[in-house]
Amino acid sequence: MSTPNSPMPFDVADALDEVERTLHDPRTAVVALGSNLGNRLELLQGAVDALGETPGLRIKAVSGVFETDPVGGPNGQGSYFNAVVLLRTTLPPSSLLERGNAVEDAFNRTREVRWGPRTLDVDILFYEGVVSDDPRLTLPHPRAHERAFVLAPWLDVDPSAQVPGHGAVAELLAGVDASGVHRRPDLELHLPQ
Ligand code: ADP
Ligand code: MG
Repeated sequence: MSTPNSPMPFDVADALDEVERTLHDPRTAVVALGSNLGNRLELLQGAVDALGETPGLRIKAVSGVFETDPVGGPNGQGSYFNAVVLLRTTLPPSSLLERGNAVEDAFNRTREVRWGPRTLDVDILFYEGVVSDDPRLTLPHPRAHERAFVLAPWLDVDPSAQVPGHGAVAELLAGVDASGVHRRPDLELHLPQ
């Protein structure tokens, strides 16, 4: 609610407060990348580089590359390459999501079919200190704890990771079917320069 004298609606003021807070308080966040169209390794590296160029965001570690069978969506789509990125950021969660969507768009992601083939998927798995059931940004990611193609690279990049409300990534991974998830030791993503 705003009064006639207040210079801006409350939600804008809240948003500015949040930005101000995070500027002084970098948080750890975890982002999942997936691609099953085009040059998958190049697309994942492009996403890592683009995220790394974001002001207020520093990439700390990048997982190995995992080749994974598609889960859900139409039959006959090709396998995915998946990876997980660990970062520190002063961006609030909503800005991190916007940046992830912009990176998807930059690599020409199309969104015709839910869970269908895509050049690039960028999901926020975890943002330190934030739990949200907002459908626009659910944190932790609502399906991360049950997806081997997310848990395997997450464990690789952070062996002690926890999914808030669900438990240790290592234990969650041990409890799901990971038969369609294979590390590709011949492939590697690099930290941005
Ligand atoms: P999926 O990643 O499940 O395959 P999409 O990438 O098409 O599906 O995302 C669908 C919507 O999910 C996006 O518009 C986004 O706003 C929303 N969403 C909710 N929580 C998250 C999250 N943690 N990370 C990324 N997107 C999310
Ligand atoms: Mg997504």
